[in-house]
Formats: sequence, structure tokens, C-alpha cells
Amino acid sequence: QGLYKHFPIKKGLFRSVVGHVKAVDGVSLRIPKGKTLGLVGESGSGKTTTGRALLHLIEPTGGTVRFQGVDVSQKLKEDPRWVRRSMQIIFQDPYGSLNPRRTVMDIVGEAPLYHGIVDRSNLQDYVGQVLEMSGLKRTDAMRYPHEFSGGQRQRIGIARALAVKPSFMVCDEPVSALDVSIRSQILNLLKDLRDQLGLTYLFISHDMSVVRHISDHVAVMYLGKLVESAPKGDFFREPLHPYSKALLSAIPLPDPEAKRDRIILEGDVPSPVNPPSGCRFHPRCSYAMERCRSEEPPLADVGGREVACWLHCR
Ligand code: SF4
Repeated sequence: QGLYKHFPIKKGLFRSVVGHVKAVDGVSLRIPKGKTLGLVGESGSGKTTTGRALLHLIEPTGGTVRFQGVDVSQKLKEDPRWVRRSMQIIFQDPYGSLNPRRTVMDIVGEAPLYHGIVDRSNLQDYVGQVLEMSGLKRTDAMRYPHEFSGGQRQRIGIARALAVKPSFMVCDEPVSALDVSIRSQILNLLKDLRDQLGLTYLFISHDMSVVRHISDHVAVMYLGKLVESAPKGDFFREPLHPYSKALLSAIPLPDPEAKRDRIILEGDVPSPVNPPSGCRFHPRCSYAMERCRSEEPPLADVGGREVACWLHCR
């Protein structure tokens, strides 16, 4: 609720603060149990920072995160293990997120041992079970990360997260570093695990076709703010925000004969240090009006979804 993460910019001999990067600037999200919220936007929109701030892997500058009714920041002081066990993350880079000097047994087995989910005498069997759930073999436990392909390494990352029996997972672009041919296998694995184990996901991606495949609800971020949040069906049928329309127009159509008007966004994403006044999207929006330059549109309810655009709210 009202999540902020501003990174200070320090300069000079005394490291004085000369400004802030407003990476996340007042974001509110709600994810029902067992559902997947797809969080989309271009690079630099604040998606990854939002995911990490939700887990308190980075300390939010402001706002509250509630998980199962519990204030996460407070709970971290009282029972950090509960928070770390219940809320996990799968990282984007399956090459960089696994320690090359450690076996899969060490990587997957460390956290459940630490959290007391399993004792050392049963660890091998437990890790074997988790590897099988993640589509790997029990014998893979004795191998090292460099012996696996990219898709298999991401399965190890999934197994590491699952090993502590979480309820909520942030999936931070988990397939974007993978070969296209194996993306659907990993997406289907995540879907099956969600359905079997009743997991809840925040699924971060810049790829709209991936989000369409796995999400129940879609939220769009632009320059640290939410600009649209809608059930998946409504969103893909008729996106309302001009930025959402531009993102959707970039999805390739399966039929080579089919035509769709591609909306090309002019210019780069503005700096999050000094975001544009009014609607942050106005320098790139072809519908921009005078009001858009000075007044910031609120995220307003528009027929069961939320949109921050003066075309749709008063
Ligand atoms: Fe475009 Fe104005 Fe809507 Fe912003 S508020 S998206 S500038 S029409």
C-alpha cells in the first residue's frame, strides 16, 4: 500500500545527497491468494524494485507491505525466518544467481536446513523430492551449476525457492534470459506448481505474451507508478491507458497475413530523477492535452479496473 523506493544520489567529497532516483513512487497492489499478478513495463519502470521492496530485500522508503494480514516490516523484526521462508524470489539470471562452487545439493538444501524444515539425516531425500518437483533428477543433486543448460539452471533456482515451502513468490523475469524454445516449459512448470501447491505469484516481465500466458490480473508500471491495473481478459481485449495500448501493439501476431497498427513510442523513458510534471507519460503520448502537462491523473476506478489517464477519469 503506497509503496515508495527512492534511491539517494550522492556526490562530492562529503557524499552529499543531491537528488533521488524515484524508482517506485507510490505503488499499491493487491494479489489474492493462489493468483498471479503480471507486472509489466519497459526497463526502468520500477518493476524489479517493486518486487524486491515487497520482499524487503531492499528497504522501502515508504508504504506498507502486508502479507496474510501481517505487516512484513514489523514481522521482520519479530520473526525474520517466517518472512524469509514464506516469501521467496526467482531471479532473472539463472547463470549469475547460482554459486558455481557449490553443488545443487548445497544450493537447494541450505535454506530448508537453516529453517528447520528438514534435518541433516533426511536432507538428501528431501532435496531429491524438490528437484523432481522442479523437473530435475535426484542424481542432479551432486552436480555443479555449470554442468546444466540455462533452462535446467532456472529449474534449480525454482527448486531453491520451493525448498522452504513458500506461499508467495516474486518471479522476476524468470524466462527472459532463456532460449525461446524452453521458455514455455519453465512457464508451464511455474503454472503447475502454483496450481498444485496453491502458490501466489508476482510475475514481473516486459514480455506481454509471457504475461498473457501466466497471469490472472495485469498491472502496468511507467516511471515508478501504476498506470493501469485490470483483469487479464479485460486488459488484453481492450487496454485503456495509451501506454498499455502501445505495449500491446508490439506483441507479434501468429498469423503472418494479419495486420495490426503498431504504436511506436517516441523518445526515451524520461529520467526518474526529475519525472515530467502532470502525467508522467505526457511527453510520449499522442493523446496528451493541456491538462496532462500540469495535473497528475489519479489511478481511478473505470468499470472494474483502474486507470490513471485523463481520457478515462475526471
Ligand atoms: Fe496521455 Fe494525458 Fe492520458 Fe497521460 S493523462 S496518458 S498524457 S491522455
